[in-house]
Amino acid sequence: MYYRKYRPQTLQNIDNEKRKALITQLLSHPQHIPHAFLFSGSKGTGKTSTARIIAKVLNCERNMFADKKSKEVDACGVCDTCKAITAGSFLDVHELDGASNRGVDDVRALREEVKFAPVQGRYKLYIIDEAHMLTKEAFNALLKTLEEPPHHVVFILATTEEEKIPDTILSRCIPITFNRATHEELLVSLERIAKGEGLQVAKEALSVIAKAARGSFRDGAKLLEMATQGTDNSIEAITAMLETQGKKGSTELLVALLEHNEKRTMVWLSAFEKRGGSAKLLMESLFDELHELLLAKNVLETASVIPKVVLDKTTKADIASLTKKLIDAYAQTKYSPIEMLPLMIAVSSFCEDKKN
Ligand SMILES: [Zn+2]
Repeated sequence: MYYRKYRPQTLQNIDNEKRKALITQLLSHPQHIPHAFLFSGSKGTGKTSTARIIAKVLNCERNMFADKKSKEVDACGVCDTCKAITAGSFLDVHELDGASNRGVDDVRALREEVKFAPVQGRYKLYIIDEAHMLTKEAFNALLKTLEEPPHHVVFILATTEEEKIPDTILSRCIPITFNRATHEELLVSLERIAKGEGLQVAKEALSVIAKAARGSFRDGAKLLEMATQGTDNSIEAITAMLETQGKKGSTELLVALLEHNEKRTMVWLSAFEKRGGSAKLLMESLFDELHELLLAKNVLETASVIPKVVLDKTTKADIASLTKKLIDAYAQTKYSPIEMLPLMIAVSSFCEDKKN
């Protein structure tokens, strides 16, 4: 997986310049570091990678945290501690999932645990992913720790839904927003991967991929990986691959859908998932096609890619109902642990509708 292999490993690698400068600044006084951060932003924007980088900076064996004479804030990335954090085997870095550790008992256990000194390093890091999933009681328990955190503990709460984090928690955290990556940032990250893998891909082709990634480093890396699996890395081949991921393939799915053929849609989706297709991209293509279909239904002139027989049988109510279900699924995709699941549920529910 390119995304994992090429995720930024040190402050220096962070693609967003503003964020890099802000975090470097926040960590540049070892005597006064923040004890709680709140990272908010959509999936694939680098929250977990950045949390691990902070863990490295605080525990690295070769920077200003290790040596008072050093002026280097950034982690070296190569000492045993940095390597262990990259590998996920460092005992003082705890990554928790807010969805499965959401109860008050979990947080109480954590409160007991944080009192103990670090085992291997200088700081214990608690990275709580999807923090908005914690229960109200769990947040209250956590708040007590955030009010008086032991000096050797740093919390990093990551969330895709900042509005669900209570104000009392927010006020204790340094907020850092993870915006969707810009086209240029995506391009830089794709170039880094291409260089690292020794891939011969024209900049124009990388630009096409960056555009299709729509602001997600993860999607960009995934698409580049898919695009370069064959022998042809030309812009034409890459564009064709992207079309197959979205346009060409999605028409087939849409036809099965409009026929309310649940089995065929599920077979199609499961094959798409196995190929590593992105549910998000697929739904975006489906929105384009439904839009086109609605226009075709109304003004008749648009040359829709949907076969006429299907078009004739499709009602506007069907288009509206399918679009609504897909919009809901699209919104849910960003916090679904399995990307394809909301789409599958929407598709199944739409197919069922006709039967009733
Ligand atoms: Zn290091």
